[in-house]
Formats: sequence, C-alpha cells, structure tokens
Amino acid sequence: MQLVFASNNKNKIQEIQQLLPNSIEILSLEEIGCHEDIPETSNTIEGNAILKANYVTEKYGYNCFADDTGLEVDELNGEPGVYSARYAGEQKKSNDNMNKLLFELKDKTNRNAQFKTVIALNINGEQQLFEGIAKGVITLEKKGADGFGYDPIFQPLGYTSTFAEISMEEKATISHRGIATRKLINYLSK
Ligand code: IMP
Repeated sequence: MQLVFASNNKNKIQEIQQLLPNSIEILSLEEIGCHEDIPETSNTIEGNAILKANYVTEKYGYNCFADDTGLEVDELNGEPGVYSARYAGEQKKSNDNMNKLLFELKDKTNRNAQFKTVIALNINGEQQLFEGIAKGVITLEKKGADGFGYDPIFQPLGYTSTFAEISMEEKATISHRGIATRKLINYLSK
C-alpha cells in the first residue's frame, strides 16, 4: 500500500519508513507532485493535522497522514500552541521564539508546559487521530545545543536536562512526536 506523509522532511520520512512493515510504502509530497503550500489555517493542532491530511486525500486521492505540533504553556492559557513556529513573527526563528517565551514568563513561578503532537491518518475512507503529549517545564534560560525549536528551554518531567541536552534517541522515547508516531505505527502494523 502507498501512503503519503504530508511532509517533505526527508529525515522524518526515512525514520518512519524504517519502522513500518515493507508492505507500506511512504511517499513524500514531492513524490506525488504536490509542490504547493498546504494551508494550515485552523486554530487548533488537531485541526491543522486534519486540514493537511484531507488536502492530500481530497486533491490527490491518496491515503495520507499529516502531523502538527505545538507547545502549550499553562501560564499563557495554552499559547503559543498552534502559533509555535511563528510565535515571534513570520520569519519563524527559533531563537526569537524562545526569547519571546522567556520574556513572557519572566517572574512567573508556574512554568508548566506540554508539547502536543497530533497525527491525522486518512485510510480507506476513514480518519484516525493519534496524540502524543510530553509534559515538562520551561527553564529560566537556554541550555544545550542539540535539537531544534524550543528544545533548549523545555525540560521534560522527571529530567534535569532540556530536550537539547539529551540524545535524539532518548528524546524519541519520551517525546510528543515519538509517542504519537508509535501509536500510528502500531495501528498500521496490525
Ligand atoms: P511542526 O508542526 O512539527 O512543524 O511544529 C511546529 C513548531 O513547534 C516548530 O516550528 C517548533 O517551533 C515547535 N516544535 C515542534 N516539535 C518540537 C520539538 O520536538 N522540540 C522543540 N520544538 C518543537
């Protein structure tokens, strides 16, 4: 079966292909000739994952899955959430986003936050959603050089290091994306 991953991130695509049975062939957006920007206009993470998966299924006719992720901060009523990538502006700079978040939380004692990933899967006319949540706190300053996005200021529950200070393999065992992806893989491997 061919299954589109609504992404052009080669690393993500390769990673997931390796975890799936050989009977499932993952195709990227590029491989199906989808070169346009898919609208992500929903104000929820679930909504954007669904929009992306539906766009591919409706316009190109493929079974498809799409993911969307956001960082939800308790003290900010769940912000930046769906706006995580462009929190400090359309230039989508991780460093600016982190600086803005650290500024918003200056002097705040409640620094609880969670990353949430939702994967929407359209398969044979049905839709399934898979969610992964990683709880933690926003640190007082950036720590570590690995990872991406908000990793240097997110310390997962039960850890004294940030996501940017642990290996990619260890992060995958506890991360929002790792959890949601394993649920998807379990479902597809049945
Ligand atoms: P996306 O939906 O996977 O593109 O994620 C949206 C935004 O959330 C990214 O641009 C990052 O700023 C942030 N983000 C998502 N996943 C992570 C993560 O694992 N660590 C740090 N930041 C992340």
